[in-house]
Amino acid sequence: MIEDKNPQRTSLSELGEFGLIEHLTKNLEIKQDSTVKGIGDDAAVLDFKDAKTVVSTDLLIEGVHFDLAYVPLKHLGYKAVMVNLSDIYAMNAKATQVTVSIAVSNRFPLEALEELYDGIRMASKIYNVDVVGGDTTSSTRGLIISVTAIGVVSEDEVVYREGAKENDLLVVTGDLGGAYLGLQVLEREKEVWKVNPNSQPDISMYSYLLERQLKPEARKDIPVLLKELGVKPTSMIDVSDGLSSEVIHLCKSSKVGANVYEDKIPLDPQVISTSEEFELNSTMVALSGGEDYELLFTVSQDDYPKIKGNPHFTIIGHMTQESEGIHLVTRANTKIEMKARGWNALSEEKEESEEE
Ligand code: ADP
Ligand code: MG
Repeated sequence: MIEDKNPQRTSLSELGEFGLIEHLTKNLEIKQDSTVKGIGDDAAVLDFKDAKTVVSTDLLIEGVHFDLAYVPLKHLGYKAVMVNLSDIYAMNAKATQVTVSIAVSNRFPLEALEELYDGIRMASKIYNVDVVGGDTTSSTRGLIISVTAIGVVSEDEVVYREGAKENDLLVVTGDLGGAYLGLQVLEREKEVWKVNPNSQPDISMYSYLLERQLKPEARKDIPVLLKELGVKPTSMIDVSDGLSSEVIHLCKSSKVGANVYEDKIPLDPQVISTSEEFELNSTMVALSGGEDYELLFTVSQDDYPKIKGNPHFTIIGHMTQESEGIHLVTRANTKIEMKARGWNALSEEKEESEEE
């Protein structure tokens, strides 16, 4: 499905470890004032003056978190940076640096790693973060990527998962469920392609979903926008595992309950039509799908006028007393307890409906 546009294959052993690091990192630019020393020494040196430093790491394993059969390496590099920046923005912080560590087998030619680094470089450029270090080592088979993101936030602006209060409004950015459905489309096409490698599927009607899956964008704009609006969320988290799991995290950390209204959950029209096509419930897709990298936060009712009508935000519910529990209020106005169900829940649901 992914055409090999670069037929040249240079073996990694031709360069050696240091040659490889030099080759991959030579075009990376340093832009942040806080980067005192980037790549090239035993450690990077950063200076954040009196701001608080925010650090987050993610590990991506081939065959577990990504499948190179349908994920182009450039997109993978981009996404590896995005998933980490998303965690920094979820602290209401500004991302400033990343480190990138990779383990690769000699199954990968240099050209493959160049593509990966094209994606990393593009992400760091667009999001204005410096790549200040990393590690490069070999693996027996697959590709492993670990990114650590670093950011800054002032003490009075940092937002945690804890802090939501009863009656606070629950707000989500963007729309949900697209990335999960994008993956379903890619997996289906992969099966078709296995049978007929020459098939050229028409996937234009899924363009938004594929973009959400293959080229997610972290919400760099939201901490900035919140500041402009004069709104400090009382709690915040990024939506990486699906809405229900994130609502539960906020509630548990903040010791509150929540009511989420099914009819308020923001869904793109492609999410609605493709859910129908795959015989999935679009609400379940949003609740359990994951990888949307939107931000979920709570604000005091007093801030309602400041966020009302803003196209980036959807108020999907409110927080309650802890003893009231965490519920989805359905379109039919019944209350269902929310459970942290991830990807598996969706495949279970699908199997159940197939059995019917
Ligand atoms: P060490 O032997 O101390 O681990 P390395 O030779 O691995 O040092 O790394 C040399 C420099 O290159 C360091 O600044 C390190 O952070 C950086 N570096 C190594 N691998 C990568 C990578 N994959 N991406 C970005 N920077 C890297
Ligand atoms: Mg090293």
